Amino acid sequence: MIRNFVRFSRQVAAIVAVGVGATLAQTDSRAAVMFHFDFIDAPGAGFNAAGSLGADRRAGLAQAADYISGVLGSAYTANIYLTVNGTVTADTTLANASSNFNAAFPGNGFGSAGDVMLKILGGDAADPAPATPDGEVNYNFEDFDWEPLSDFQPGELDLISTAIHELTHAIGFASDILQTGGSAWGDPAGTPSAWSPFDEFVADASGALIDGTFALDGARWDVASVGGTGPVNGLLFNGPNAMAANGGNPVALYSPTTWDSGSSGSHLDTDYYTGMNGTIENMMNHASSIGEGLDLRTYTAIELGILRDIGYTQLGMVPEPASILLTLAGVACIHAAARRSRQRRA
Ligand SMILES: [Zn+2]
Repeated sequence: MIRNFVRFSRQVAAIVAVGVGATLAQTDSRAAVMFHFDFIDAPGAGFNAAGSLGADRRAGLAQAADYISGVLGSAYTANIYLTVNGTVTADTTLANASSNFNAAFPGNGFGSAGDVMLKILGGDAADPAPATPDGEVNYNFEDFDWEPLSDFQPGELDLISTAIHELTHAIGFASDILQTGGSAWGDPAGTPSAWSPFDEFVADASGALIDGTFALDGARWDVASVGGTGPVNGLLFNGPNAMAANGGNPVALYSPTTWDSGSSGSHLDTDYYTGMNGTIENMMNHASSIGEGLDLRTYTAIELGILRDIGYTQLGMVPEPASILLTLAGVACIHAAARRSRQRRA
């Protein structure tokens, strides 16, 4: 059984939009998880745009992958192959990324991980489909202006920030619970099924929504999945590491009063974690409050906790952006990444 859905789009308030055929391998001596990108855009388009534009786009994506590899640390060893398409033209979608799901039914529980996560946790030998890509990354360069690195001009969005966000979905920051409360394996609410590791900790204020038989409580789901802003009525994430990073409290997941397909349940609550009123803004909010310019490029402690909770228990040292080594068509070049602190909203 194959599941392969592209679910995760990151959208912001509309902003006027921004090596042919090469495979770019992000290589970093600190990181043991390597992301390999297969840029499928036509010559001159998207990530294969001519000259420095295409090269910078590819470098920005590699820098995002480098950050994630550094966070995962040296305890994990895997080669992740992602197909990259920069010519998406779906108006309101900035970008998305997803893992392929090629594994057989893992049994009822929380073991329904995508190929990317299976390989990071289990090594390349755990690849359920070795001859195929592990996932994909899509960018919309037609409808949005992107700064691929750090030389921002007015109106430009942060490609690197968005890439970190999207790649984080691909490594498993995602709920598999459907709007109906059913599972991606076709089991309706109330029926035991296989869920993503993330789903083990999807909760409401009363606790986890999936019980010890791995059946989801449909009645509570129907309330909390559209429960609205904040930690009272909406969806929560109650993993122990995330809670420890959040003052002992469950973390609010994005669960607006109208189900937002592809966003509800799989993000932190944008409407609550605004950076104001004592809250922080998170990388994995469903939308960024920063409409243009340098955006978040690091995880918050909450997000690191969530990554640990979903299975990345051996997270390494959180790296500072430093320098990355890019190998493109046999030519190696060093791109120094700007050292900047995270930009916070007022
Ligand atoms: Zn997202």
